[in-house]
Order: sequence, then C-alpha cells, then structure tokens
Amino acid sequence: MNRIKQLSLHEAQKIAAGEVVERPGNVVKELIENSIDAGAKHITIFLEDGGRKLIKIVDDGFGMSALDARMSIKQYATSKINSIEDLNSLNTYGFRGEALSSIAAVSKLKLITKESESSCGILLEIIGSQIIQEKEYACNTGTEIIIEDLFFNVPARKKFLKSKETEYRAISHIFFSFCFSYPTIYFKLYSENRLIYNCPQAENLTKRLEQLFEKNLTQEIILINGKEERLKLICEGIITDTPYSRYDRSHIFIFVNKRWVKNSKLSQALIKGYQNILQPNKYPAGFLFITIDKSFVDINIHPRKEEVQFLHPKLVENIIELAVKKALENKMMLKINSNLKPSFNKDLSLTHSSNDLIISPIKEYQDNLNTIIPNYSKNFDVKDSGLEKKYNNPDLKPFDKILNESFPFKSIENAYNKPVEFNNLIKPKDLSVDFRLVGQLNQTYILIENELGLVLIDQHAAHERIIYEKIKNQFNTIPTIKLIFPILIELTQLDIELILPYLEIFTIFGLIIEQISPTQLTITQIPAFLNNKPINDTITQIISLLHNQEENVEKIRNLIIEKIHAQLSCTAAIKAGENLSAESMNEIVTSIYKCENKLTCPHGRPTIWQMSLEEIKKKFKRDYR
Ligand code: ADP
Ligand code: MG
Repeated sequence: MNRIKQLSLHEAQKIAAGEVVERPGNVVKELIENSIDAGAKHITIFLEDGGRKLIKIVDDGFGMSALDARMSIKQYATSKINSIEDLNSLNTYGFRGEALSSIAAVSKLKLITKESESSCGILLEIIGSQIIQEKEYACNTGTEIIIEDLFFNVPARKKFLKSKETEYRAISHIFFSFCFSYPTIYFKLYSENRLIYNCPQAENLTKRLEQLFEKNLTQEIILINGKEERLKLICEGIITDTPYSRYDRSHIFIFVNKRWVKNSKLSQALIKGYQNILQPNKYPAGFLFITIDKSFVDINIHPRKEEVQFLHPKLVENIIELAVKKALENKMMLKINSNLKPSFNKDLSLTHSSNDLIISPIKEYQDNLNTIIPNYSKNFDVKDSGLEKKYNNPDLKPFDKILNESFPFKSIENAYNKPVEFNNLIKPKDLSVDFRLVGQLNQTYILIENELGLVLIDQHAAHERIIYEKIKNQFNTIPTIKLIFPILIELTQLDIELILPYLEIFTIFGLIIEQISPTQLTITQIPAFLNNKPINDTITQIISLLHNQEENVEKIRNLIIEKIHAQLSCTAAIKAGENLSAESMNEIVTSIYKCENKLTCPHGRPTIWQMSLEEIKKKFKRDYR
C-alpha cells in the first residue's frame, strides 16, 4: 500500500509559516524590522484584540515599486541578499525573505505601498497567499500593511493563540524593545483605537526610557559602558540603581548587535551583577546592548531570530556581570564621596561614563581566556606572579598577567590610576582608610572622622560584611573546632528528610552535621568563628528555604550555599547593643574599608554612612557668609 503523498505547495507553505509566525507578536516583530530596514523614521502600529483580529503597521520608509510589492509576498523573496555569501556583510534585520510570504500564507493581508519616484502607489489584497485584488492607490511614500484574521485558515494554530491580554503583553514587549534600540525613530502603538504609547524621536536611550516609564525607574539609572578588546565586544546601556526594584524580570532587555534576544543566561548575568545588593526575589530593570564582532556570534540558530549563539558564551556572561557590578559600585562610591543630591545623580550619570568596565579577578573569566588562547596560563610562571599572598584562591593567581595582556596597561595599579583613552576608565575616589576614632553611638554605630567628614558605621552590618568576605576568601582553610559535647538539634521527620541530601554542603563552611535518629541531628564540628554562637537558627532557616523551593537541585545547592554563607556571617557578627572597645572598633573600621563590597552587608543593608563637611556646614548654615 502506498502511503506517502506530496503536500500541495500551499499546504507546505502554511506549515512552514508556523516556523516564522507563531503568534501576533512575531508578525509585529517581522513587520517593524522590515520598516526599519526600509529606513522609516515614523512607525505606527494598530492592534485589535491583541493582534488576533487586526495588526496594522504604517511606515514612512522607502516603500516598494508595484513589481516589488507583488514579489515581496513570494517565498524567499528578499531584496537584502543575493546569495549566502552576502550574509557576512549584512546590516539589515531581514534576509531570508520568509516573513511576508509566511504571514500572507496564514492571514488576510493588505499591502499598500509607494516609493518616492512613483507618482501613485499600489494596493494588493491577498488571502492565503492568493492575490485577489490589485489596484493603483493614492498614498504617501512608505508602506502600510494590514493583517486581519491571523491563522483563519490554520485552525490548529489559531486554537493555540493565547488570550487577548497575553498576546497584547507580548506585543508591547516587542514594541518596547524596538523603542529602546531605536530612540531616534518615532514609534506609536494604538490598541482598540486608543493611543497607548507615544514615543516621539528621542535624543538617546535615557530620554526614551523617560517617555515609557515612571519617574521611580528613570530617576534611578546608571549608565553602563564597558569594552573587551579581544572579542571586539562593547557592553553599554542603562541599569537601575538599587533604590529601584521589582518582583519580576520583565524590565530586563538584552540586545545583541541591536537585536533583542531572549537569552536567560544573559539576563541572569545582569542580575548576578547585583548579588547581595538587591533583596532576594527582587529584580532590577536593565537595558543592555552588546555589540560583538559578527564572527563571535551566530544569530541564525532560531527561525524567528530570537536567540543567538556565542562562540564564548561564558565570557560574554562574565563581562556583563562585571560591568553591572562595577557600575553599581562606582555609583555607590560617587554617592557617598561627593555628597550628591539624588537629582544631581541623574544628571551626572547622563554626562559621565563613570561606569566603564574594569575587569577584576574571576575564575571563569580566566578559564575562558584560556580556551580562547590556549597557552595563556603556560606563558608565565604562576609562582612568580606575586599574587599568591593577595588571593588565597590558587585559581586566581595568574590573573594580573591576563589583565595586563587583555588591556594595554602596565599593571593593575595603572589600570586604576591612569585614564586610558580607549576605555575611558575613571577611578572612583576611593574611600579613605585614614581615620580617627570618635566613639560609639547607642552601642550600635561606630563614629569616625576622616578627611571627608564624619562617618557612621553600623557595627553589626559592617562586621557581617567583613566575616562574609573572609569566609569567601578562605573557603577551604577555615579553622574549625571539634566539639566534645555535640550540639543536638530536634526537628520533624519531614524537616530532616528535606535537609539530609544537602548536609554535606555545610562541610564547606567547616560544619559537620550528622543524623542520629529520624528526628535528630548533631553538630560535631564548627568553624572557630562560630564558637559559642547559636547555630541552630542557620539550620532551621535552610529548612524553611527548602520547604519553599521548586527549583532544580543545582540551583537549590547554590541557594543553600549563599544562605549558609550569609546566615553564618550574621550569626558570627557582633550585634547592635554590644559595647565595643576602641581596639575592636578600630579593627572593624580598618577591615570594612578593605572589603570588596564595603558599602552593604550581605543582606543588602548599608554599612557606612559618610557625612561630608559640606553637608555638616550646610546644616549649621556656615555656607552663607
Ligand atoms: P526579508 O526582510 O528577509 O527580505 P520579508 O519577507 O520580510 O523578507 O520581506 C520581503 C521584501 O519585501 C524585503 O526584502 C523588502 O524588499 C520588501 N519589504 C517588506 N516590507 C517592507 C517595507 N515596510 N518597506 C519597504 N520594503 C519592504
Ligand atoms: Mg523581513
């Protein structure tokens, strides 16, 4: 029996269309891209029923001739390439000639277009790929495309369209993404004949954000501007400062070579840059543009070009994370050091690129460099690097060499001191370590005087940060104490079952915990810094975390490590309400200023509050003569 038959061209086309067009949002994306490729300066979109009933897009681009208009809806019809070789030199969004033909195959489409050299335009009406009407049409130069009844002839796909609200939300995200990449294009979005977003031509991304978002976001922004010579990579854009946060990631947009990409690894890298600064489950807003040499990225792996593949994905992630981290640190320093008022902060971030990327020691970064340049670590003798004392982690030792070779500086110090033209590095004025102890306030705050004025330090938050970083840097060499009388912890059976698979994680921190009955654990070894401190709370905190988790094992492991780390630092740290000797206060002050993230405790609370002499003068009205 013969079972195989060839599908008609039209049926095959409808199936193939699904690759490019799955939802109204894809249609909107393809059409906006075509308008941008046509050099449009004004792009207006109209929607009805979340695009399910109608999508209309009007542009003032260069339009099409009558012949091109007829061609444009044919399969593989494109004006953008002639052969596959042209792909390398391509500077447009389109190139496959699939979008219009796919959309035309699964909708009722009207195409109205006129190029500037024609006196009259043309209107084509197409239903399921068939031109059913064609006539001359008086219109302005540019193109208008009306799509009605998407998937009217593919019920299987129509059934999978989501609610009006969901489709609308997806479209508005796509609309936003183009608004961000092209601030100089005038974009408008109408829904059910109501103007929802009106974005006249804007000078830059900052101004564009002001058109689209509330003040609470746009007042708290930081410019990012980083560079990595080796990959010819630029990472620039805007992130929000920590006073701003939200409970979802919907305001994180990452672009690669101006294309919005849905790559969760990249947004995770951005979020990671905020580690310990934002509360758990809180997310920033961020609009990052990665520009990378075409040979290091493949945009062609996804039929709708929504994903990209990097040749060195980890490296790109690290660069994003570091750029964000550095930008936040620099901003925090600036705030504290120059006693800036919030409104001034904003102006400053518009005019200065104070957040240029400074690469700092990270193991993966080094590993990645090693993969790109296999002889990296072999080229020098690790023991001679002199960094052995500086960093306890042996993996970090060769880093200064790598840094030297990745950037044209003579040494790490130079990287900070000398403004380097291509990268425009500005050294944030470091917090001074020279100080005089003034005393303790309310058994909670340490007061010191430094060259800038008066400083208040939260004794608990600061000590917490100091211990946190100490643990981090000494991971494997934490001094421990074996307990002659083990600590007994009573729990429910469920609690024990939950935590049992993760008990070995505690050993990283020098804690040895064993199960001795279905409802009992004992602690037989503790890290020295926890001597005489209540530890049980750390265990119960971890258990409550496990009760609320649905993540995968790897994620939970990392969460637990982070939680134990922060929790132990908190337990070990001196508390508010403790009287401190001058000696301990001096030690805390000196150590906190040496911390990598000196400005917040591991939970994100501030540690240091610098009051400048200027500020104090103003308070006493000494600034008026
Ligand atoms: P691609 O963009 O990959 O070339 P499309 O199917 O999206 O394929 O479009 C086919 C062709 O139609 C384009 O190459 C372009 O020449 C023309 N075209 C489509 N939309 C527009 C527009 N808004 N303005 C001018 N020309 C357009
Ligand atoms: Mg196209």
